[in-house]
Amino acid sequence: MKRVTIVVPCYNEEASLPQLYATLSSLMESQPAYDWEVLMIDDGSTDGTLSLIKQYSAGDARVAYVSLSRNFGKENAMMAGFDYASGDCLVMMDADLQHPPAVIPQMLACWEQGWDDVYARRTCRGRESWLRKHLSLLFYKLLQRSSRFDVLPNVGDFRLLDRKCIDAMRQLRESERYTKGMYAWIGFKKHEIPFEQGDRRAGQSSWRMGSLFKLALDGITSFTTAPLRISTIMGLVVSLVAFCYMVFVLFKTLIVGEPVQGYPTLILVILFLGGIQLLSLGVIGEYLGRIFNETKHRPIYLVAEKSTRETHTDINSNSKHEQD
Ligand code: UDP
Ligand code: MG
Repeated sequence: MKRVTIVVPCYNEEASLPQLYATLSSLMESQPAYDWEVLMIDDGSTDGTLSLIKQYSAGDARVAYVSLSRNFGKENAMMAGFDYASGDCLVMMDADLQHPPAVIPQMLACWEQGWDDVYARRTCRGRESWLRKHLSLLFYKLLQRSSRFDVLPNVGDFRLLDRKCIDAMRQLRESERYTKGMYAWIGFKKHEIPFEQGDRRAGQSSWRMGSLFKLALDGITSFTTAPLRISTIMGLVVSLVAFCYMVFVLFKTLIVGEPVQGYPTLILVILFLGGIQLLSLGVIGEYLGRIFNETKHRPIYLVAEKSTRETHTDINSNSKHEQD
């Protein structure tokens, strides 16, 4: 019997969990051909999320959990999911039911046909502000233009991954994580399923504009060095223009002389060059900061407690070996 793990990262989701658990239970009962596991990752929630999860786990052998020692962020919580999932495949989904579990049987059917990475693409984005939507589309355009593989817009983390892909994801243990780029990076046979994203059922989205901006920067800096190249090109163009202007000024002074004037040109050039230099320094700084974080080799997450099951500890000790 094939084992299917549903991984749900949860951060302060006590309001959504009862409905999620009810929906998943009925899904699992309707598909008895699979050996199901629901793996909930509590990402350092401060509300009753963990005790709810423990309650489900105690009453239902299919529910396993891993509780992180603090809030590490969704990207890191998902990594814990990849590490502890014991299934032949894994379905990653949000706790807030924005990812309809009704799509999962469709994903499984595609998996059975031999696809390794079955991802769901939103046909509508749910309730969202104009600014957020357009900034996000702009970000994907930038990333697609500058990297060698396709990071798809309107595709989130709702997807089914075969064991091959899970093992590949587990090797990508960088600390500044941009998981959507990693799905594209690992390759394998991908298949798309369209779905309609609903609105959050309960609670609040925990992503603020600031954290989305950080995620976008992580996405760009961890998958492309194009901004560094742009700085170089900008530097070259500006130097070339400056050189031509220098030759021009030199000859003009030699031929017609130069009365002391030219404050506007001078200040413009100084400001322009200063601006470009600061911008380039900032770009270098962004990369340097990430290199700094990466060189510390800290673990991506720390586990405070987990439901004790043989398979999970096995998997974890394997991953520790790999890290050593
Ligand atoms: N989440 C998490 N850690 C965090 C933030 C969010 O595990 O620090 C989980 C959250 O519980 C949910 C999923 O990530 O299951 C998506 O979060 P949310 O709905 O807030 O994001 P959005 O749907 O607005 O992208
Ligand atoms: Mg959501």
